[in-house]
Amino acid sequence: MAWEFKWPVLGVIIPCTIIASTAYGSHYFVLRHHLSFKEQMFYQFLVCMIWVSYCMAIFTDPGLPPRTYTPKPGEWKRYCKKCRLFKPPRAHHCSKCQKCVLQMDHHCPWTMNCVGNDNFSHFMKFLVWVMIGTSYLLLQFIYHIIEYYEMSSMPVYLLRKGELSAVIVFTLLDVFVLLTITLLFIRCAVNMAKGMTQIETWDWERIESQFYTRRFWKQVRSNYKRLHGKKLPQLSSWRNPNFQGLGEGGGDESDGNAEEMQVFSNQNESSALADVEGASHNCHENHGDNEGLELSHRRSNESESSVNEQIDEVATNFTIDDLIFPYDYGLLVNFRTTLGPLLFWMLPWVSTRCNGYDWKSSEDYEEYDQLNLPWPPDFGHGEIRASNQVFMERMHWQNDMGERLRDFGVDIDTEQEESLD
Ligand SMILES: [Zn+2]
Ligand SMILES: [Zn+2]
Repeated sequence: MAWEFKWPVLGVIIPCTIIASTAYGSHYFVLRHHLSFKEQMFYQFLVCMIWVSYCMAIFTDPGLPPRTYTPKPGEWKRYCKKCRLFKPPRAHHCSKCQKCVLQMDHHCPWTMNCVGNDNFSHFMKFLVWVMIGTSYLLLQFIYHIIEYYEMSSMPVYLLRKGELSAVIVFTLLDVFVLLTITLLFIRCAVNMAKGMTQIETWDWERIESQFYTRRFWKQVRSNYKRLHGKKLPQLSSWRNPNFQGLGEGGGDESDGNAEEMQVFSNQNESSALADVEGASHNCHENHGDNEGLELSHRRSNESESSVNEQIDEVATNFTIDDLIFPYDYGLLVNFRTTLGPLLFWMLPWVSTRCNGYDWKSSEDYEEYDQLNLPWPPDFGHGEIRASNQVFMERMHWQNDMGERLRDFGVDIDTEQEESLD
């Protein structure tokens, strides 16, 4: 859940206080009595790298879209009325920074800055240096705690009580910082491995939870029609035993059979409806809603529904596993794209070499994608609403952690102004 401070500067003052008190307090009260000069220098080097990477994360601009940027054919035309420029794919307007941010991950209250294309590498470096520094300190504390335990049979006046108190207090603080930062690091690293920002992961989860809803497919079909001027062709699933691969007939099929192919055969429909019910059941458990379930009952009662109605139906023969995220280039390339050259990325001055606005789709996407729509596929001006189900809309949907789009700092007003054409 996103933090928001009444005074944003507190978001930086609090971490600075924690870093300074833990790092220098531990050194003054404990480490200087036990470590050699070289070990103390190494410890101070770690502390120094934490400060440097933190400053880099705070002061490095996350990346502003160039004013000359214009959307390429096949991209959403996303105009930011506040910055008065076109937003490239993956960019969002941050409501806190009051500007558009390239490859926006989230607005971080602890750096008073957005985490985006140009400073994601520095943000990750900060997390890694904090993990290394706090782990080193924890090892020292564990060593001293064992020492105190072994000395417990000695007279009390021989123990340094001040040092013992410092070890207890700073161990607790150190463990707290290490755990919270490690959790954040894992979350960022998992997203990075998938080639996604936090916002894109959030969008993926949203799509997954609504995959078999009428709202989603209406929006997808509407987007496809507006972008390509024709109806969405029949979709195939690799799970389907009859799946032959896309081949020449691929996702971009445009012949006269396309419309006809969208009408499910009775056989396919009955099995597909079973899928919908199963999938919708999961959806219901997670989110308390089930448009798909309602739809499946309605459809089984209305077997004589017209062709036109069916065209707007859920593509039950297509699964979430058939959806391809366009910017997942494979593990190593994903890390290199975000962090910079992998061998040197921990150096303070190394960052991504990606410009953050000229995005090319992955080879997998080019070869296997069937929707042929920019990310997210159900995006667009005049979002189709599900009646009386406000939380189904992109702006209102929240994930299992209760996070909505605005919790990442995204300016909802500018997001709603976007259009396809
Ligand atoms: Zn903007
Ligand atoms: Zn921001």
